[in-house]
Amino acid sequence: MKNTNNQRIDQRIDQRIDMKNSRNDKQEETIIPPVLPTYARLNIAIDHGAGVYAYDQNGKEYLDFGCGIGVNSLGFCHPELVETITEQAKKIWHTSNLYRIPGQEELAKKLSENSFADTMFFTNSGAEAVECAIKMARKYHYENNAPERYRIITFEGCFHGRTLATIAAAGQDKLIKGFGPMLDGFDHVPFYRDMAKVETAITHETAAIMIEPVLGEGGIKPVSSDNMQILREICDRHGILLIFDEVQCGMGRTEKLFAYQHSSISPDILCSAKAIGAGFPLGACLATEKVGRAMTTGSHGSTFGGNPMAMAIGNKVLDIILADGFLEHVEKMSYDLRKGLMNLRKKYPAIIELVRGIGLMLGLRVTIEPSVFVAKAIQHGLLVVGASDNIIRLLPPLIIEKEHVDEALEKLSQICRELEQELPEQQNDEA
Ligand code: PLP
Repeated sequence: MKNTNNQRIDQRIDQRIDMKNSRNDKQEETIIPPVLPTYARLNIAIDHGAGVYAYDQNGKEYLDFGCGIGVNSLGFCHPELVETITEQAKKIWHTSNLYRIPGQEELAKKLSENSFADTMFFTNSGAEAVECAIKMARKYHYENNAPERYRIITFEGCFHGRTLATIAAAGQDKLIKGFGPMLDGFDHVPFYRDMAKVETAITHETAAIMIEPVLGEGGIKPVSSDNMQILREICDRHGILLIFDEVQCGMGRTEKLFAYQHSSISPDILCSAKAIGAGFPLGACLATEKVGRAMTTGSHGSTFGGNPMAMAIGNKVLDIILADGFLEHVEKMSYDLRKGLMNLRKKYPAIIELVRGIGLMLGLRVTIEPSVFVAKAIQHGLLVVGASDNIIRLLPPLIIEKEHVDEALEKLSQICRELEQELPEQQNDEA
């Protein structure tokens, strides 16, 4: 009797354990990480940085040729930026755009003096700068008695951010899938070799053409000066606006403050972000007076955009970039890096198909899956970033020296050598 009772108790305990286990299994199946898993993150955590080097939580050193995707253009913990941020933190961080912000007035003046722009709106990010540009283009035509002109022509492979308007602007399936209905008002055309073909897409509803002077996510594809000129002429002929998205390619990355300055034309609106704050969230939408006039009081706003902390940093970053010799240094480093990359391409044609880009915004088109290249680079202590069209993006800090270029080239050479040796294996795996 006693035995049977014990057996029953044991059975009940087993049942309860089973129930608990199945509940745990279920929980594990459905559990979501506390950080929304929208990124396929690499399993390294950068703990701190110094100059052009990043260090992970285990103390491993990485030469940073990714720059947080073109953001940390002055490297990590630039002493002048550390001093600026420390001093500003003791003074004031945030007020409100309800009041004058002298730092905005100073930064806007300096950016205007060094670009086509007469006026600008400060944001916290690139997507917000592009949103502002889209609104501005529509409002410009509205104020000029042409409200039917609301559509913007954009290009295949372009990237303008992750808000609803900016994914609709890019129009790529991978960005828009599941987020419909899409905001109306974008006409997508191929990234033509001859931009004269864009004219066929213009209708009486077209408000603007928007393009990145160097496609970033789209695979480091520069728009030639001739093509920029053609786009400007098309816009002028049809009374529409030219918008340049320089979120990734601006702020010294291509050896000029803005990439459009390689050409003899200028846009009506320009979007900046990323390196403008060198790691502090900041963006800007720059415009001519003619276009900016449309953005009347109350037509746009932002709580944080251009707050005193962001402005202290933005002003210091711009002063550093505009200091004598800074952009010439970028040009020199670009020359050395590009020359070394061309040699690597000759040495490892089975891995590197081509080298393209401008300034310190360079791309290697590789024959293998870019994520395999990026992972191998991490093993070798080098941070690089993938992009569309099988491109590996090299976006080093603009403060790199010759020794860093040499170190990166040496690492890239080792990476290519190993990948080349592994090639037959990979091909066998694929077969
Ligand atoms: N525009 C371009 C050209 C970009 O490369 C990016 C980001 O990569 C954006 C816009 C969006 O910027 P953010 O991520 O700061 O919103």
